[in-house]
Amino acid sequence: MLKNFLLQNEIAAHFDESLKKHTTFRVGGNAMCIAMPDTAEKASLLLKFLKENNIRHYFLGNGSNVIFRDEGFDGVIIKTFNFKTLSLDGNILTAGAGVTMTSAAKFAQENSLAGLECCYGIPGNIGGGVYMNAGAYGGEISACIESVDYLDENGELHTVTKEECDFSYRHSVFMKNNWLIVSARFALKEGNSAELLAFMEDIMQRRRDKQPLDKPSAGSSFKRPVGYFAAALIDECGLKGLSVGGAQVSEKHAGFIVNTGEATCRDIVRLADKVTQIVLEKKGVRLEKEMIII
Ligand SMILES: Cc1cc2nc3c(=O)[nH]c(=O)nc-3n(C[C@H](O)[C@H](O)[C@H](O)COP(=O)(O)OP(=O)(O)OC[C@H]3O[C@@H](n4cnc5c(N)ncnc54)[C@H](O)[C@@H]3O)c2cc1C
Repeated sequence: MLKNFLLQNEIAAHFDESLKKHTTFRVGGNAMCIAMPDTAEKASLLLKFLKENNIRHYFLGNGSNVIFRDEGFDGVIIKTFNFKTLSLDGNILTAGAGVTMTSAAKFAQENSLAGLECCYGIPGNIGGGVYMNAGAYGGEISACIESVDYLDENGELHTVTKEECDFSYRHSVFMKNNWLIVSARFALKEGNSAELLAFMEDIMQRRRDKQPLDKPSAGSSFKRPVGYFAAALIDECGLKGLSVGGAQVSEKHAGFIVNTGEATCRDIVRLADKVTQIVLEKKGVRLEKEMIII
């Protein structure tokens, strides 16, 4: 029935698909189905169909902050990677949920518009970036957001303003609601294209210098505790290189847990819990995971 629905509505899909291929950590079992609608209308129909048929679902962007359990996901993953609209109206940039944050930042820079530079090099899409309120090097994606279009659990399209998004550090209103982010509008400021490019290239180089980009990961495994840096705390506890199975605290950046090749989701969770416990014992600070485990 699901297959027929997807075929009839021309929604691309994979069945019994390994989630390793869809997350940057390269772990996880299989999903019953990964559906990739390319318009909000198709996504809306899909949400209605899944609700009517009581089929569970989960939204996925580029999978750079999510890991799935080794048992897999017995439902439909709705991947918004095909929502690729990217346009400019004056200083208002509109980007579909599937546009990479890096290409949105580059597009803005090429048009001499400032505001999205901090997103350059974050390996996620606009949808995942808005959901997470992603940020780096002193900036957050929310800083220049004007509004976000989303589909609610009934497949109805709505718009929320920046204030209604309730952004704070790695937090947004979308975490409390089962809403599918369709696109976001950013109010950008005039900037100098060459200066913006130089800043973006500098932060990209800092990423290459400091982060273990050659190994699968979900970026920083832990949120920044108030008043501390997770990586510094982990490093001071001597935990670089600590391993559980194929999961390892990166030797290059203690804030990253990496997959050395054959890690399972269980390895990653056990290692993250071990790190949390040791840091709490030695430093009295409770780390909270930034990566999302499904
Ligand atoms: C090497 C590396 C470096 C990183 N550096 C940074 C960094 O500097 N700063 C930072 O903040 N993060 C960083 N990250 C983490 C990650 O890239 C961000 O959290 C990013 O915002 C996730 O985007 P995504 O598209 O991959 O989302 P996913 O990982 O696919 O999803 C993240 C969450 O968003 C939800 N979601 C995704 N798309 C939608 C949608 N369309 N509608 C509703 N919900 C949706 C998912 O359900 C999930 O809960 C890094 C990751 C890696 C691997």
